[in-house]
Amino acid sequence: MDLVLNAADYYFFTPYIYPATWPEDSIFRQAVSLLIITNLGAYILYFLFATLSYYFVYDHSLMKHPQFLKNQVYREIMHSVQSVPWISIPTVSVFLLEVRGYSKLYDSVEEFPYGWFRLIASVLSFLFFTDMLIYWIHRGLHHRLVYKHLHKPHHIWKIPTPFASHAFHPLDGFLQGLPYHIYPFIFPLHKVVYLGLYVLVNIWTISIHDGDFRVPHIFRPFINGSAHHTDHHMLFDYNYGQYFTLWDRIGGSFKNPSSFEGNGPLNYVKKMTEEKRNSHTVSGRNNEKLFNGDFTKAE
Ligand SMILES: [Zn+2]
Ligand SMILES: [Zn+2]
Repeated sequence: MDLVLNAADYYFFTPYIYPATWPEDSIFRQAVSLLIITNLGAYILYFLFATLSYYFVYDHSLMKHPQFLKNQVYREIMHSVQSVPWISIPTVSVFLLEVRGYSKLYDSVEEFPYGWFRLIASVLSFLFFTDMLIYWIHRGLHHRLVYKHLHKPHHIWKIPTPFASHAFHPLDGFLQGLPYHIYPFIFPLHKVVYLGLYVLVNIWTISIHDGDFRVPHIFRPFINGSAHHTDHHMLFDYNYGQYFTLWDRIGGSFKNPSSFEGNGPLNYVKKMTEEKRNSHTVSGRNNEKLFNGDFTKAE
């Protein structure tokens, strides 16, 4: 995060906002700047990618599903917009520790023997580590003592849209994001890789709410996609995972998505529409007969 903070200081905060008497390394100034950057960054990522996904990926016929709520998209957006500033407070305290040099983030690939190999391995280890922790945190959030207070707001949306991706109770949102922040305090990670991964995990979170239930056949056994996560929203006790199905399989909570078996929410909407169309056709024919006098004659 210090890369972003330094750039913001250089191009914006120092020349235009803060008085020259306020040093760049003041902890209070850093906290204020990080709060602005974190909120702004979160809103940009959320609105940019959730909107793109909503218009270009999300199947809008899902909105006809009986469990799709009234004004749901508006409510998802409002919920997210209100949660982000609260989530940003504990998040910024972690960023502050990071900026002040307590993490294992590093600048130069050449600093380490096998630098590039290590860099690629760190991406895999980041994904493995965060997927594992999110699984257990998410499963913990479903415990009856905390579910109602923290995680239930995210399960209001049974048929989520991409805008539900950040619609959490603030503490829930922070806890599920915590693994991303913990990682660079335990393991060495390149700063640019960390930033890239941070953007990527935000996009992934949006993608598992995007209502596109297709997963290439070859990846189906491993990847936790929108089909899995929508079933999680509807059925609660299955598919807690984030990117992979691994921990659901180990933890005994894996369920083959209903969409893969032909009875997912999209199949339901299709069946519902067909039935409606058929009943219209039948009643249309009946009306025709009625107008032609068939029924009145018979009666
Ligand atoms: Zn969700
Ligand atoms: Zn859940």
